[in-house]
Amino acid sequence: MTVTKRARVLVISLGGTIASTSTPAAGAGVVPQLTVHDLIAAVPELVDVCDIDAVSFRQVPSGDLTFSDLVALARVIDEYFAQGFDGVVITQGTDTIEEASFALDVLISSPAPVVVTGAMRNPTLASHDGPGNLLAAVRVAASPQARGLGCLVVMNDEVHAARFVRKTHSSSTGAFRSPNNGPIGWVVEERVRIVARLAPLATIEVPSLDDAPAVALVSCALDDDGRILGRLEELGFRGCVVDSFGAGHVPSTMVGAIESLASAMPVILCSRTGSGEVLSHTYGFPGSESDLLSRGATSGAMLDGRKARVALTLALAVSSDSAQAREHFERVRDSLTALLTTSEGFDNDARGA
Ligand code: ASP
Repeated sequence: MTVTKRARVLVISLGGTIASTSTPAAGAGVVPQLTVHDLIAAVPELVDVCDIDAVSFRQVPSGDLTFSDLVALARVIDEYFAQGFDGVVITQGTDTIEEASFALDVLISSPAPVVVTGAMRNPTLASHDGPGNLLAAVRVAASPQARGLGCLVVMNDEVHAARFVRKTHSSSTGAFRSPNNGPIGWVVEERVRIVARLAPLATIEVPSLDDAPAVALVSCALDDDGRILGRLEELGFRGCVVDSFGAGHVPSTMVGAIESLASAMPVILCSRTGSGEVLSHTYGFPGSESDLLSRGATSGAMLDGRKARVALTLALAVSSDSAQAREHFERVRDSLTALLTTSEGFDNDARGA
């Protein structure tokens, strides 16, 4: 008789809506206060899926998470993987899932699944989605199919790659989307289906972090002359991400400020559109992508502004030298475009796509 070993999954809670409820003590509105044990107790079906351990790591709205928290969390996760855990689920606020999950993706090199989930509706509401999301996330974390895919975000029974996912709605339970490629899988009944496999993301090893380097995220807008860019250095910023128009464009009045900033710190050019890539050689007007790249800006390529800021912050955390930090950033960026292989092993790059 073959005895199949049950998977061991660790659930780590950080707070957020999934853990938020109201009490007379809390006053008006819900606040994060449920422990990881409360979250697990609300989902009796978990006992049928795998063995579960639990850690309450933070109890905050996700806008209060810091890079130091995420680096410390990544190192805790490494320790549990070293003890033989098969997967980890993080429960946190959804507001910053797209950044926190990508930070974990860049920080953790183990092939074991790290799955982030949360809830759009809190436990005081009839349509609370937390228990269902936690159950689906644990199923994915316990699944051998989810190994080697980097950090995943499971919401609304969909499996998204942390490198692509965005929160696209302020309250819908279907808020999480991956605009360039869609989910890479889903959970149906008790099954986990992964329909596309990802090439491994390059990682940046950050052993610990007390004070994250400040990286500005500046979004372009109509008739903006970019005067704020000239103040970043004196404000202590060490890098900047410009969320530009369309395919990597800014008003011509911003060009001088970007060029001089790029001589002082890494400046990453992303698209504020939320999908697609920054182009490299299509437009030639002042403030176009080719103009800005020739003046020292670095392409964010397929990374959106928020994810590029995560990668640049972690790159600067391991190297205060701008050129070296840029190299770390570019390694992560380029590993992203090495991209999708299907379950059957089909490789986009091999096709010359
Ligand atoms: N609305 C948020 C959530 O979904 C609050 C937060 O991000 O903590 O959890």
